[in-house]
Amino acid sequence: MKYQSTRGGVSGLSFIEAVMMGLADDGGLLVPDSIPDVSGELESWAEASYSELATIIMSYYIDDIPHEVLSELIETAYSAFDHPEVTPVVPVGDVHVLELFHGPTLAFKDVALQFLGAVFEWVLERDERSINIVGATSGDTGSAAIAGVRGKRNINIFIMFPEGRTSATQELQMTTVLDRNVHNLGVIGSFDDCQSILKETFSDISFKNEYALAAVNSVNWARVLAQVVYYFFAWYRLGQPGQFDVCVPTGNFGNIFAGYIARQMGLPIRRFILATNENDILHRFFSTGVYSREDVLQTHSPAMDIQVSSNLERYLYFLMGRSTARVKRFMKQFASDGRADIPMSTRVLDDCFVSGVADNDKTLRTIREVFQQTGYLLDPHTAVAMHVASTYRDDVSQLVLSTAHPAKFSEAISQSGTPEVGHSTLDQLTELPTRKQVIPADLDVLKNTIRELSQT
Ligand SMILES: *Cc1c(COP(=O)(O)O)cnc(C)c1O
Repeated sequence: MKYQSTRGGVSGLSFIEAVMMGLADDGGLLVPDSIPDVSGELESWAEASYSELATIIMSYYIDDIPHEVLSELIETAYSAFDHPEVTPVVPVGDVHVLELFHGPTLAFKDVALQFLGAVFEWVLERDERSINIVGATSGDTGSAAIAGVRGKRNINIFIMFPEGRTSATQELQMTTVLDRNVHNLGVIGSFDDCQSILKETFSDISFKNEYALAAVNSVNWARVLAQVVYYFFAWYRLGQPGQFDVCVPTGNFGNIFAGYIARQMGLPIRRFILATNENDILHRFFSTGVYSREDVLQTHSPAMDIQVSSNLERYLYFLMGRSTARVKRFMKQFASDGRADIPMSTRVLDDCFVSGVADNDKTLRTIREVFQQTGYLLDPHTAVAMHVASTYRDDVSQLVLSTAHPAKFSEAISQSGTPEVGHSTLDQLTELPTRKQVIPADLDVLKNTIRELSQT
């Protein structure tokens, strides 16, 4: 399988080349040249374990990692999960919930980042080189990225977070990781300050090359690919229904786009129910065809508090008949005007998406009601999906994706009026030693820190 950019400036990459490039050099996103149809094979994979199924599905997209190696990398990545099924499916009232939070940081990003970390380590060892991963986080992504690469050879990771502005648990999930290759940087400033010095660091091309800077953000194709697997896995656990609906709590459109790929491959998903919080740029896009940026609001589901959905560009590429010229025009207009639209006539051709919004009140109410009715406790992100799913219920079975363990968001849980919940992984964090460095929001200080610490 080869990969090309949604903007047409890069093509002919292998899987590993695509993973190491991350964002395409022309500013676009990397997509496979074709999507294989596996509908004829589905019957024969029913007995596969999670890791076996992952190896089968990912092999369609990876031809530059030997099969036995790929299978080992996948096995290692998912051995860090605390459930034998990796992503179990559980019945909750009238729906089924796919639990994606059994990884080391209790959020769904582990599914992708445990795999990406394993791929990085193998490639770097093979090529005898090293990288410095640099990232900024407002909370969840940082800990999942750190968990994916801690202790790995040839990789340093530097994660900036706004000092004193993440939750105590979020900070501890990062700073209690004492592996030598992990560097937590508390930046005196806001998350925007962190992001802007991150951007500046990457745009200094000579520094970027000298220190082999790498990113692990959600546009990396390996992350999307790892997420395709659990849509198939869930279908088997549902008993292979003739069709089903999937409801996904959505921010950057990475998770739901992976489902879209699974559907293109022949998985009988009838439709996607896209769920957002009050940051509803995607709901507005799917209901009107207009993609327009607004200010970010803080909600109970912070991992979905985003302005711009970076993975949407991959979907636009398919929606626009793989026309890189049309994608480029759309993204250019959005970058300059903060707004772009596609004619509804185009959109209507693709009726596999419906969407809805749950505001803060509905989120808390859903946590409370579902708990009272079923005894199952939802985290606020999953509650957004559960609410929106309820507005689209009919006689087709619904699968709701659960993206975090409720204990990660104990404040919202207590505000919802449900009993407090803990998790042993989080409860023990307060006992552990921590390490971080506090730095000013200053480009030169960041660069010096990378220079110094990457040598050790
Ligand atoms: C990142 C995240 C999301 C949003 O996923 P996208 O792929 O960005 O749509 C939802 N819930 C949780 C808990 C997350 O960490």
